[in-house]
Amino acid sequence: MVRFETELPAIGILGGTFDPVHFGHLRPALEVMQQLNLEQMRLIPCATPPHRQQPVASAKERRLMLELAIKGLEGFMVDDRELHRSGPSYSVDTLLSLREQFPENPLFFLVGSDAFQGLHSWSRWTELLDLAHLVVMQRPEQPSQLPDELDNWYHSHLATAADRTLAAGKIWPLAVTQMAVSATQIRNCFAEHRSARFLMPEAVISLIDQLGLYHPD
Ligand code: ATP
Repeated sequence: MVRFETELPAIGILGGTFDPVHFGHLRPALEVMQQLNLEQMRLIPCATPPHRQQPVASAKERRLMLELAIKGLEGFMVDDRELHRSGPSYSVDTLLSLREQFPENPLFFLVGSDAFQGLHSWSRWTELLDLAHLVVMQRPEQPSQLPDELDNWYHSHLATAADRTLAAGKIWPLAVTQMAVSATQIRNCFAEHRSARFLMPEAVISLIDQLGLYHPD
């Protein structure tokens, strides 16, 4: 178990389908980065999400949209390690691979409160804290009551400010600006020929139009 203190740069990790990326991903990630003083924010598109229906856009298209979205944003990077693995993209395997690459750095794995509600169904979910911290970003309109199993685990691992120098092991519920935007809503916008402006970066909208993504015809 990685439980030592370190002065090494801290790294944020946000995995997702990013089908497509939107401001509900980017703004909370930036705010977490600032609140925890992280040096990097790695956005990791998944190849085969294990808990949901498969993405509409291809892995290559989703990676390209991410690259455009974060162009020039200091500290942000697209990490495509899951796209090089076959089989379902389990977060625990991604964190294992990041831990190999960064043996001693504090790793902060970001999840929205909706994703956290179902964490106890994830593969080897209790091992996640052996590898990284978990940051729970509050999403709009999410019920606050957790299932019992998860609730006990959550409360017994809650972080205090002094835990920031640990490499892993704590849960950080963080308030971020509430943005009630989802990729589903955005895909519907494109499918129904409604504008997605101000929900996501302009450059990503242009690319979607150029590639004809999410349009029914
Ligand atoms: P979909 O609508 O297709 O389910 P999504 O908008 O939830 O997609 P994902 O790529 O599945 O986006 O999300 C990746 C991560 O970002 C998840 O941990 C999710 O909870 C979080 N997230 C997505 N949208 C928001 C938001 N508006 N505020 C905070 N966290 C978010």
